[in-house]
Amino acid sequence: MRTQRQIVDYSLQRRAVLRDVRNGRIGTLEVCDASPYLKNAATYHGEPTDERCPVCRRDNLTLVHFIYGDELKQSAGQARKLAELPMLAMTLREFQVFVVEVCRSCAWNHLIERFVLGRDGLAADEMLHTDVMVSSGGAISHRTGKASHNGEARR
Ligand SMILES: [Zn+2]
Repeated sequence: MRTQRQIVDYSLQRRAVLRDVRNGRIGTLEVCDASPYLKNAATYHGEPTDERCPVCRRDNLTLVHFIYGDELKQSAGQARKLAELPMLAMTLREFQVFVVEVCRSCAWNHLIERFVLGRDGLAADEMLHTDVMVSSGGAISHRTGKASHNGEARR
């Protein structure tokens, strides 16, 4: 999407959680806790994927896009279909999108990405993009540390 900016990727955190689940350090009940609201959002607004659930392997993951921001008023916090986002991005100046993956079979769920959309990104498009990629990438590797590199290499 053209106005997409300030992208923060959570795949390292996700892999760390999944590793702990496999090691038995975290119980599956703790991570497979999608609320009825989240499951409904996955059913009615979710984007199907070809990726199997990493926990139960019974079902493919569904991506749900939640939108946040002052301009959204009462719609803030709601799920939106991916196809609705470009239109919102042309109507509003700025809003946050949180992408959550959900397994509708075992209720596994995890935040995988967040980013900003909206008209404000049009003018300073190029400049912002390079800037943000560098700073957010640094923040993430700093927080998750060295351990996550193993997961990276396997994939
Ligand atoms: Zn599952």
